[in-house]
Amino acid sequence: MTAIVWFRQDLRLADNPALTAAVRSGAPLVALYALDDDAPGAWRLGSASRWWLHHSLQNLAADLARIGGRLLLRRGGAEFALEQLVEETGAGAVYWNRIYEPWAMRRDAEIKARLKGRGLHVESFNGALLFEPSQLRNKSGAPFKVFTPFWRACLAAPPPEPPLPAPQHVTQGPAVDSERLEDWRLLPTKPDWAGGLRDAWTPGEAGAQARLREFAAQGAADYGDRRNDLADAEGVSRLSPHLRFGEISPRQVWHEVARRAGDKGASYLRQLGWREFSYGLLVANPDLPEQGLDRAFDAFPWRDDAAGLAAWRKGETGYPVVDAGMRQLWRSGYMHNRARMIVASFLIKDLLIPWQEGERWFWDTLVDADLANNAAGWQWVAGCGADAAPYFRVFNPVLQGEKFDPDGAYVRRHVPELAKLDAKYIHRPWEAPAGVLAMAGVRLGETYPRPIVDHAKARERALAAYAQLRGAG
Ligand code: FAD
Repeated sequence: MTAIVWFRQDLRLADNPALTAAVRSGAPLVALYALDDDAPGAWRLGSASRWWLHHSLQNLAADLARIGGRLLLRRGGAEFALEQLVEETGAGAVYWNRIYEPWAMRRDAEIKARLKGRGLHVESFNGALLFEPSQLRNKSGAPFKVFTPFWRACLAAPPPEPPLPAPQHVTQGPAVDSERLEDWRLLPTKPDWAGGLRDAWTPGEAGAQARLREFAAQGAADYGDRRNDLADAEGVSRLSPHLRFGEISPRQVWHEVARRAGDKGASYLRQLGWREFSYGLLVANPDLPEQGLDRAFDAFPWRDDAAGLAAWRKGETGYPVVDAGMRQLWRSGYMHNRARMIVASFLIKDLLIPWQEGERWFWDTLVDADLANNAAGWQWVAGCGADAAPYFRVFNPVLQGEKFDPDGAYVRRHVPELAKLDAKYIHRPWEAPAGVLAMAGVRLGETYPRPIVDHAKARERALAAYAQLRGAG
C-alpha cells in the first residue's frame, strides 16, 4: 500500500527521518507539499520567505525526481489535501517531520488522530531540532526560562544522533494530479525586488550543504572572535534560511562543525542552542509572537510614530549603522545578528515603537523569518522576554557602529552615499566639518538624512518611559 510523505519545513532528502522511514517501509511513495499558510492562526508567509520557498520547492522536486520520485503540490488546508490524497491513492501510511508553530501543532495532532481513526499508520519525527522541546525541563520540571542552564542541560543530554544518509532510490506511487508551482505566484511580479536575493543566496539542499562545508572548514573554529564583526560576511554561517526551510538539519550542522572544528566549534554550536531555546519558548508560550512574556510591558507608553517607522524601514534614520542594517535586510533578505540587535534597540528604545511592528517588518523581509527566533529575538531586545537584556540597556548606535564596524566597511557597503566619508565620522556624519562632508560628496539633509532623533535625548525618554512602567507595576 502507498505511503505519503508530507514535506513541510524539511525540504531535503538527507537526514530526513520521515522520508527515510517511508522508504524503509518498502511502500511506493507519494511526496506532498501543501501550501497552507492561510490556515486559521497561521502567520502568512512573508514576501521574502515566499521567494525562498519557490526556489526551495523547485530544488526539492528536482532532487526527488533524480531518485525516482515526484513532488506533488496542493494548496488549501493541509488536512483536506491529505485526506483527498489518501482517497486518491488508497494510501495506508502517512509520515512527516514535526513543526512547532502553535497553530500547526494543534492541527497536526487533529490530523494524526483522524487518520489513525481511519486505520492508517501515521508517524511523526523530530527532523528540525537537536532536542525535542518536551524532553528538556528545569529542576522543577518546567520549561527553561534562562538560556545558560538550558544549554547546560542540552549538553548533558545524549548527543544528537548522527545524520541519516539520503535515500538513493524511491519507488513512485500512483500518478495523481499536482498543481503547478508557477500558479502559486510566490515570486514577486512587478516590481521585481528579488535581484539582491538572487545575488546573495542559493536556496535548496545542495546550496545549504555547500555553505555548511565551507563554513565548517573555514569559519566555525574562530566564530567566537569574528561573529560580531559586522563587515565580515564569512565570520558567520549564513545558514539561517537553510535551517528555516529545513534544507539542512541542525544535526547535520552539529556533526559537521564538530568534525571539522572540534572543541573550537563550541561557541558556534552554542548559537544553535539559542534556536533550540527559542523553539522551547514558543512551544511553552504559544502567544510568544504577539504577547510579551513579561506582562508588565502591556502598559508600556509606546508612541504612534508612522514617520519614524517609515524612516526605520527604509534605512533613513540618519544613524549609519542602523541604516546599513535595514538596507542590508531590504536588499538581501538578511541582516547580521549584531545589526539586528542594534536596529531593534533603535526602533524600540530610540523611537518607542512597539516591538511587534519591527517583528512584522522582519517577518515580511527576512529570508530566514522564523516564528520562534524572530519573536524571541524581538522580546529579548525589548526586555520583555525570557532571559532578556534588561530594558535599560539601550544600544548607542554610534558606539555600536564604532566598535563593530571600526573602519566603516559595513556602512560603506550598504549606504553608498557615505562611502567616501572619513572613517572618523562614518558613524557620526553630523559631527564632520563642512569640508570633510564636501570632500565625501555628502550633503546632510539632502544626500543623507540628519538623525531623526537625538540619541542622548531619546535614551532619557526611553528610561523615563520605563520608570513610569515600573512605577505603575
Ligand atoms: P550564525 O551566527 O552563523 O548562527 C548559526 C545559527 O544559529 C543561525 O542560523 C540560527 O539558526 C541560530 N542562531 C544564531 N543566533 C541566534 C539567536 N540569537 N536566536 C536564535 N537562533 C540563533 N533568526 C532567525 O533564524 N530567524 C529570525 O526571524 C530571526 N529574527 C531575529 C530578530 C531579532 C530582533 C534578533 C535580535 C535576532 C533574530 N534572529 C533570527 C537570530 C539571529 O540574528 C539569526 O539567527 C542570525 O543572524 C542568522 O545568521 P547566521 O545563520 O549567519 O547565524
